[in-house]
Formats: sequence, structure tokens, C-alpha cells
Amino acid sequence: MKYIFVSGGVISGIGKGIATASIALLLKSAGFKVSPLKMDPYLNVDAGTMNPIEHGEVFVLDDGIETDQDLGHYERFLNESLDKNNIATQGSIYLTVLQKERNLEYDGEFVDINHVTEEIIERIHQAGKMRNADVVLVEIGGTAGEYQNMLFLEANRLLKLKKHDDVIHVHITYLPVPPSIGELKSKPAQMSVRDLNAVGIQPDIILARAEKPIDEFRRKKLAVSSGLDPEYIISAPDVDSIYKVPLGYEEQNLVQKILGKLKLKKSQKDLKDWKDFVAKIDNSKKVVKIGIVGKYFATGDYTLADAYVSVIEAIKHASWTQGLKPEIHWVDAGKVLKDGSILKGFQGIIVPGGFGSRDIEGKIVTIKYCRENQIPYFGLCYGMQLATVEFARNVLGYKDANTTEIDPKTAYPVIHIMPDQEKKLLERNYGATMRLGAWDCVLKEGSIACSLYGKKDISERHRHRYEFNNKFKDELEKKGFMVSGTTPDGKLVEVIELKNHPFFIGTQFHPELKSRPLAPHPLFVGFVKAASKVKL
Ligand code: GLN
Repeated sequence: MKYIFVSGGVISGIGKGIATASIALLLKSAGFKVSPLKMDPYLNVDAGTMNPIEHGEVFVLDDGIETDQDLGHYERFLNESLDKNNIATQGSIYLTVLQKERNLEYDGEFVDINHVTEEIIERIHQAGKMRNADVVLVEIGGTAGEYQNMLFLEANRLLKLKKHDDVIHVHITYLPVPPSIGELKSKPAQMSVRDLNAVGIQPDIILARAEKPIDEFRRKKLAVSSGLDPEYIISAPDVDSIYKVPLGYEEQNLVQKILGKLKLKKSQKDLKDWKDFVAKIDNSKKVVKIGIVGKYFATGDYTLADAYVSVIEAIKHASWTQGLKPEIHWVDAGKVLKDGSILKGFQGIIVPGGFGSRDIEGKIVTIKYCRENQIPYFGLCYGMQLATVEFARNVLGYKDANTTEIDPKTAYPVIHIMPDQEKKLLERNYGATMRLGAWDCVLKEGSIACSLYGKKDISERHRHRYEFNNKFKDELEKKGFMVSGTTPDGKLVEVIELKNHPFFIGTQFHPELKSRPLAPHPLFVGFVKAASKVKL
């Protein structure tokens, strides 16, 4: 087994996850089985307890593990589903070590920080073994030079000592262009390499992230100061789509250089599907205007985009494959309440997942507008629950219908909590206790959902506590509401839709988590197609 470590330098947010996902794709297309592993320095055991405003979306895998957006990038680029072996937070590693100590698994040894490093190495081996991988690609979270990720770098150093020819290190660093100077500066990048050297790591390849391509002068300068041949400095300028990143690396023969260092020979080379997909991005000209009505506006659009990254990517995948150019607009649910006319500019509207009571009424007004005006509506999890509330209130006339998440005393609890979930809340047992991961669902024949999937049996990923209340099913269905998907035992409602509407679908699951560039999600495809037919 071979090991590639990926670290970042100078600043956070330079696209380490995308770079790692791109390397994974290139290795796969060269014929290798890759297992990516994200190692995160934080002490949360998983990402489930983190606020999406600060840390971005919580990405859920089939096995129910709650991870961060990088796992989403890996899955989207590799077009493979990953699992709990592909993520390790420092918190989960400490937890294992402390549990082993309590279980006397260290045979009375003095347990210290070296055991943590050993556990990190164990996780790396595990990530490879579980996927039968040729290459384990370890992305080290954080930035070189900070103490929080030191143990991951130490594990890298130790593994390199043991398996010299099987371990390489790719460092992604940043060259700023200060406006007053107007040219690339390489000093911070040189310093980040020094930071790695200081902990015993010599990078084999450097990806030079910058606004623009690196020029020969700086390439040589960075090469000399890093002790590398200039051909191992790869230019990684900003591009207009993340999906073009692998192609930029490909032009510079990155994968051949990696394979050369690892003494591997490629068995095939096929990026054709990916190139065809990327070509569609530029060829898609017909604009489709989609509004996402959400609440995470606290610190500006950037944060919102991070909190809903899978939704955005799913819209893009579906649109491009239909020759449509998506124009995505953020709509503050709070503002809709004040001025509903802002909804008029959209051909389709999404209410994505969410928690708590903030801006709920604005979302309900949005859903009413879509229902009454035949505007394509797609409700994801909370967006499905609130569509049920809206229908009960405004069609059945149950004025105070609600989800018990917001109004536990409502006379019409159309969305409610199951006793097992309620118990967890009462015990304050919050970590990894929602209804999580992949659940089977059976779709109703003749429903729009069933015709879009083209099959009855599906499996989708969940992350929620509340459920549709079956007590209200018959009343709702009498008025044009349809439960179009349930768990195979019929007990839990998974999909709802409206009859007599071009596209009004709500899913209790998160379809966006399964959309891939090379396999766009059928419901998103149906949604953007319906939206493209709306005349503004
Ligand atoms: N807050 C809702 C629940 O817990 C919906 C969650 C979500 O949208 N992911 O059931």
C-alpha cells in the first residue's frame, strides 16, 4: 500500500479538499483504487455537533457518520460512496485511546501521546484496508505551522521512516498577490515549507495556489528554497469551476509525477467522462433562476454557500447535464415575510434543511407562494416538513398546524417526534443520535418521484429527528397532497408531493448528498427541468 499525505500552508480555505479530491480522481483514472482519509484536528468526535454557520455543511455518509464538506468533495469527484473509515477527527482518536486505556488494552503500559500517534497510523492503515486500496490519500486538516495538527504530521513522519519508498507528501501552499505590488510573492510559501521541514517533513510535490499561474521565476525560487526540482512545483491558479481543477493538474502531468515518486506504473488513463462533463459546464447557456430560501445569512453569502454546498453542487450537476446554466440566488427567509415580491424572480425555489424556529414563517410564506402559483418547489428535509405544515394550515384550514419542534403544544402536530427520539433529547444525548444515514424507501407507482427515479426502490441519506405524523395522512391526501414514498414497512414518510402541480416535491431525506457530477440526482434533474419551463 502507498500513502500520500496532503497538507496546507499559509492560509486556510485554499481548496485543500478540492485538491485532494482532484488527486484522488486522477489516481482513480490512472487505474488505482484510492481511499481518501480526512484527518481533522478538532476534538469534536464527529461534525454533527458543529454549527454549519462556522464550519459549513454537515455531510452525512450512508453508514450515518456525520462528516464535513471535504467528504462530499471526495465522493463527488470519485463518484464512490465512502464510510466512517474515511474520516478521523482528533477527538475520535483520543476517544479510542482513552477507551482502550479504560479497557486495559494497553496491558498496564504508561499511556502517553505516542499512543495517540500510533492510533492515527492505525486509522490510516484501516482506511486502506477497508477499501482494499492501492493508495491511501490522507488530507491533514489545518495549516502547517500550527500546533493543532502536529500529531498528524508526526504520524506522517513516522510512517515515512518505516516505509520510505511508499510515502510521499504533497504540500498545498499559497502565493499572495498584494494589490500594492501586483505580483506573486513566494515568501509565505517558502516559510510554510520550512514549517514542515521543522517537524521532519520534506514535501515531494508542491501545489502553488494563487490568483494566477505561477511564473518561471517564482517556480524556480520556490523549488530551490524547498529543495525540489522545479517540475515538482505545480501551478494551481484560481479557476471558474472546481471541476476544472483536475484538468489543470493533468496538463502538468501531476499524476505521472506522483506515480514516479511512489514507483508505481499507471495501468490506464481515462478522464474522458470527466472531460465531457466539464465541457457541459461551458456549453450550458440557457439560464435557469433558482432561489434558495434559507436562514444562514449571519456572516454573508460565503458562509451561506458553505452551509449548503451539496445543495448548490446538486443544482449545478443537474442543470449542466440538461444544458442549463444555473443562476442561484440566496433569499433570506426573514426578508420574504416583509416583502413577498422578492420571490417573483425565480423559476424554481428550494427550502433546504434546517433546525429551530428562526425564519420559519418566511419559509412557509415561500412554500404557499410556490403551491398557489405553480412554481416548482423542492423541499429538502425541513423544507418537506414545512410544506406539510403549510398545506395543513392553508388548505385544510388548521391555522395553528405546526411541527412540534417549534410548537410542542399545537393541536395539529402534522410533524412530530417519535418516542425514541424524544427520550434522547430529554437525556441531552445529542451526538450522533438523529435518524442518520441511508434508509430504504419505496416509491408509489404513478407518482412524479417514482417516474423521475425510474424505479420504486431507492435508498437515501437522512439527518433529522422529527417525522411526518401519519395521523393526518388521510385528511391531507383527500385534498391533493400525496405521500409518494415511505420506508418499506410503510411507517415513516419519506417523500411527499402535490397533485396538479408541475413540480412540488418534499423529501424527508437529503437527496443533495448523493448527487455526483457524473450521476446527477434524478429529483434535482426533474426540478431544474420543470423550473426551466417557467416563464418569468
Ligand atoms: N429540524 C428538522 C428535524 O430535525 C429537519 C432537519 C433537517 O432539515 N436536516 O427533523
